[in-house]
Amino acid sequence: MVLDDLGSSLRGTLDSLRGKSRIDEEDVEKVVKEIQRSLLQADVDVSLVMELSDSIEERSLEEEPPAGTTARDHVLRIVYEELVDLVGESTELPLEEQTIMLAGLQGSGKTTTAAKMAWWFSKKGLRPAVIQTDTFRPGAYEQAKQMCERAEVDFYGDPDEDDPVKIARDGLEATEDADVRIVDTAGRHALEDDLIDEIEEIEATVQPDRSLLVLDAAIGQGAKDQATQFETSVGIDGVVITKLDGTAKGGGALTAVNETGSTIAFLGSGETVQDIERFEPSGFISRLLGMGDLKQLTERVERAMEETQAEEEEDWDPEDMLKGEFTLKDMKRQMDAMNKMGPLDQVMDMIPGMGGGLMDQLPDDAMDVTQDRMRNFEVVMDSMTEDELENPRSIGASQVRRIAKGSGQGEETVRELLEQHKMMSRTMKQFQGMGDGDMQRMMKK
Ligand code: GDP
Repeated sequence: MVLDDLGSSLRGTLDSLRGKSRIDEEDVEKVVKEIQRSLLQADVDVSLVMELSDSIEERSLEEEPPAGTTARDHVLRIVYEELVDLVGESTELPLEEQTIMLAGLQGSGKTTTAAKMAWWFSKKGLRPAVIQTDTFRPGAYEQAKQMCERAEVDFYGDPDEDDPVKIARDGLEATEDADVRIVDTAGRHALEDDLIDEIEEIEATVQPDRSLLVLDAAIGQGAKDQATQFETSVGIDGVVITKLDGTAKGGGALTAVNETGSTIAFLGSGETVQDIERFEPSGFISRLLGMGDLKQLTERVERAMEETQAEEEEDWDPEDMLKGEFTLKDMKRQMDAMNKMGPLDQVMDMIPGMGGGLMDQLPDDAMDVTQDRMRNFEVVMDSMTEDELENPRSIGASQVRRIAKGSGQGEETVRELLEQHKMMSRTMKQFQGMGDGDMQRMMKK
């Protein structure tokens, strides 16, 4: 994740301010140094880093902390605000009929992003279609088609046609029923003239409502040139930063966005169609600073619950998970839901207090609820009585034997399930009460 270590290193530095009510120059300098180090390591442009740190320093010393705020909260709020300012707004993207064109270099993640975005729009209740005009990269057609199948969205492409402009034109016609049409274009290794010519031609044919530039998070300083070039030729309305799962950098992309006055639309963090999220500056930065992102988490939980047909389970409130009251039944529901939300560690990253440091303290396998294990656990749970599901701690050795027998699973699996439940409920307790306080304090001016 971009700037991953900023959160933990900064928290460490800020923690040294705990208990202090006034802040002095030396304190601020320490914090600013830490921020500079992290941002530079993440490839953020030097002048931008200097600008940001000057501003943090100045504000921390000059602004009067609101009554009742500690020095730590005062600085944290300023850092938060300045970082939110640095990453800028989210690209405006109304949920309505529209055509979106994706541009970017080869390998930046355009094709993957097209399918992911289509999936995202479909979850918002719209009918998306992907049009694949990349005739340059062998395999682009098949890859797009397969991903769209997985995302269960419409797809248009023509492997026998090599004129991308014609494919774009035909594609628009073929996908007339769709609400949101996402046009994927060919990339090249570098910004070659024929790529620019081609994309300009496609743009003229498609007349997209929005053009998004897809940038690989690891691209570093080169991002700026790309952004400028695409901005001049087709006009960029927003940026999608991909592969945030694979790098602690991403600062190059952030710099490009900042310097071209662009905004971020989506973040991509994996290879499957679900690994996409809408960029939300405040959520992004609070997560970065380890304050969690309750809004994102709630959104994901809700989406997953819809899919698990949670309507029948009216009594379950996702918030319970944050309260630490946690039975085996809850665990089962959450395993189903979380399984649909994506990798558990990513989900955990969004929970206040769970990002960065805390996750590292947990045993590696605490969150390792793989699909196979889940399936076995489910079978085991089916053999339990209501009472056992509600009070897993009361389950003794003879019950373990009975449940194992009844479910056809080994006693080992039953014990593993109970152990897993214990670990999860301990985890839930760890951030019990850590949630809103920090966030709210931050948001208050
Ligand atoms: P294109 O040439 O711009 O269309 O790029 P692709 O969509 O084919 O992506 C290039 C490679 O990056 C593929 O192997 C993708 O699976 C991978 N990729 C794309 N987005 C992500 C991401 O967010 N995370 C990771 N880990 N891999 C990604």
